[in-house]
Amino acid sequence: LPAIFEPARPVLQRIEDAGYEAYFVGGCVRDTVLGDPIHDIDIATSAYPSEIKAIFDRTVDTGIEHGTVMILDHGTGYETTTFRTESGYQDFRRPDNVTFVRSLSEDLKRRDFTINALALKENGEVIDLFNGLEDLKKHLIKAVGNPNERFHEDALRMMRAVRFASKLDFVIATETLTGIKQNADLLGKIAVERIRVEFEKLLMGQNPVAGLSDFLRTGLYRYCPGLANRYDSLSGLLLLNNWQIQNVDQAWAVIVTQLGLNVQETSNFLRQWKTSNELITNVKRMLPVIQELKAQKLSALCLFNAGEKAVQDANQVAKLYGWSIPDEQLKEQYNALPIKSGKELAVNGGTLIKESGIKPGRLLGKILNQLTVEVVNGNLANNKGDLVTEVEKIKKEG
Ligand code: ATP
Ligand code: MG
Repeated sequence: LPAIFEPARPVLQRIEDAGYEAYFVGGCVRDTVLGDPIHDIDIATSAYPSEIKAIFDRTVDTGIEHGTVMILDHGTGYETTTFRTESGYQDFRRPDNVTFVRSLSEDLKRRDFTINALALKENGEVIDLFNGLEDLKKHLIKAVGNPNERFHEDALRMMRAVRFASKLDFVIATETLTGIKQNADLLGKIAVERIRVEFEKLLMGQNPVAGLSDFLRTGLYRYCPGLANRYDSLSGLLLLNNWQIQNVDQAWAVIVTQLGLNVQETSNFLRQWKTSNELITNVKRMLPVIQELKAQKLSALCLFNAGEKAVQDANQVAKLYGWSIPDEQLKEQYNALPIKSGKELAVNGGTLIKESGIKPGRLLGKILNQLTVEVVNGNLANNKGDLVTEVEKIKKEG
């Protein structure tokens, strides 16, 4: 058994000692076989949630209606889910009924892809009912069972296929790919937040070009907000060969840049995708920097307005397009700004009201803004005396 699972082993043992079955399942098994780092350990068990709670002192009901209970053990949480089958799927998204069962094979059968349907026993034995190990070796993403049926049951699985193609740099098996092409329209039934999670993981995977290529040729893009008529523009992404996207802000900035959206269009587009307001703000800050990098005329004011994080993120996006400048140079340029935020200005509204007799209101804001721009551009020293003198000048000029 790989060392990573050692601390979780006593948890499986205690469930087994109580007379139930328990296995490590899903992504953690797949990634371990691949030799990739794993981020969380999921456990599947024949014990019902109430039975798990009777065995362990410290548990949290994280999704008890789906059979998921988190076991807390020595400061680590283990998501433990009762074996279950799903039936119904009337609306192409969530099963009408979740039924707890006592058999592992029933549970593995309802999983999406063969590589995700592996179970690992406490003694190190891998349970592989669908040839997942072989598909892992062949780098194949293959639906468990009939792809057509599986995508009918849950259309999100189609997005998961293309995101795993990117994440793992795997190929989607032929019939599975055909199944996606035939059912792509069902993606329209899925909540956009859930599509977004998979799309973001696709963009941040090992081989986004492969994932995007599948996303485009299967037609899935047609059922995503703001992308339906953008095939030509999106295919430009397949020509980018230097993907190094490090976070979701960068990921969305690439899409928005590729689509050629302006700031207002970007807001609308991202709102359709139901991203957070914070993400929208971050991406909007990056756009002017990306444009100035492209035009090879990066200004102090642009750096100032964006702030350090957006500047770095923008350069990372610009790298994809060959518009970036060396990170070190960018850092120096940023650090050379006379002030990094409006708060560092040597005067504030209060000072100007007191010392220059300006009334609170729009004019005051305008003057402060003008002073900030002059200081950032290096035309005015950031000290109170010079700034107040400048205000007198502005007042005279009206
Ligand atoms: P990651 O490393 O990205 O978390 P993962 O394989 O753990 O990958 P999760 O979304 O965390 O992916 O799901 C955990 C497991 O649950 C999957 O490996 C799969 O077995 C199963 N699963 C998740 N979503 C679905 C789905 N829509 N249909 C069928 N099985 C699913
Ligand atoms: Mg997971």
